[in-house]
Amino acid sequence: MKAFTYERPASAAEAAAAAARTPGSKFIAGGTNLLDLMKLQIETPTHLVDVNNIGLDRIEPTDQGGLRIGALVRNTDLAADPRIRGDYGLLSRAIVSGASGQLRNKATTAGNLLQRTRCPYFYDTDMPCNKRSPGMGCAAIGGLNANHAILGVSEACIATHPSDMAVAMRVLDAAVETVAPGGATRSIPIADFHRLPGNTPHIETVLEPGELITAVTLPKSRGGVQLYRKVRERASYAFATVSVALIAKVEEGHLTVDRLAFGGLAHKPWRVEQAERTVADADSIADIVLAGARPTQQNAYKLPLVRRTLSAILEPAREGASR
Ligand SMILES: Cc1cc2nc3c(=O)[nH]c(=O)nc-3n(C[C@H](O)[C@H](O)[C@H](O)COP(=O)(O)OP(=O)(O)OC[C@H]3O[C@@H](n4cnc5c(N)ncnc54)[C@H](O)[C@@H]3O)c2cc1C
Ligand code: SF4
Repeated sequence: MKAFTYERPASAAEAAAAAARTPGSKFIAGGTNLLDLMKLQIETPTHLVDVNNIGLDRIEPTDQGGLRIGALVRNTDLAADPRIRGDYGLLSRAIVSGASGQLRNKATTAGNLLQRTRCPYFYDTDMPCNKRSPGMGCAAIGGLNANHAILGVSEACIATHPSDMAVAMRVLDAAVETVAPGGATRSIPIADFHRLPGNTPHIETVLEPGELITAVTLPKSRGGVQLYRKVRERASYAFATVSVALIAKVEEGHLTVDRLAFGGLAHKPWRVEQAERTVADADSIADIVLAGARPTQQNAYKLPLVRRTLSAILEPAREGASR
């Protein structure tokens, strides 16, 4: 690990200002991703701004009937909150499907959204990777890419976004609140927050340098049957091969897909608006979702897996049971 300086400001505005003051600064929250990357010298911040003492650790109701989740709320606390379990059940389910209990106790809301890809070449500094070192090339294209993206890919990068929580937040129409070093605040719809790789896979979000996430807001609950299904190589402690977040409405046995998003398929949570409120059988939805897919030989298995995962989530949805 490279030497760095450290400070622990007392407010969000101070934290953003501190990050702007020292070039090469990074915020540190739970540290469960950042520290690993620092040990590998993939992240080499000169200065750490610890945001654990700035009071962003509460979940509060909004005037619009939704919830405002502080950036520092731990994943365990968010998943266990009775308002989340009752009104946003798929978010709770998505969070507990990720990582381990110990990691979730440390990991924060903002840190989870900003965790970096699990592409093995990104972690291997002997291999070329455009995300780690822009312009170096991509070892995954033509290499081992069974876990990589099939949608929204580019010639520069085929990595997936690893967060389960972000997929749930995408169907819930969350918004990311931030404060910039100058004090300006903004609210970014989660649809616009993560970027596709294009020619600049190292730029993963629309955050500006020094911009601090202060909270994530959820609109009033949409109700309905809320499910999250994650397919992975092991039963626990593994990232999604394919995951599906679903809000469905069931009336007199008739199922309508209200909201639908996928994880494990793209560089960002993949919401499929065209498949919402129109069709409700797995094959028709999969045809829409996979229309622009560009699989490799090794990850083409994700095409039938999307169909099967959709079948597996629509069945309990039809029964009207939130599992
Ligand atoms: C073994 C293992 C298995 C895992 N499995 C899963 C899984 O299955 N599913 C899943 O979703 N996740 C999984 N994770 C990832 C885990 O969820 C993330 O490491 C965690 O959510 C990151 O949160 P953190 O608070 O520790 O972030 P940190 O490591 O502290 O920070 C991550 C990034 O966010 C930035 N940051 C943090 N807070 C802010 C802020 N307020 N504003 C701006 N920038 C900020 C940091 O600068 C850094 O770049 C796994 C992790 C491990 C180690
Ligand atoms: S897929 Fe993306 S993260 Fe992986 S090696 Fe290629 S450029 Fe790097």
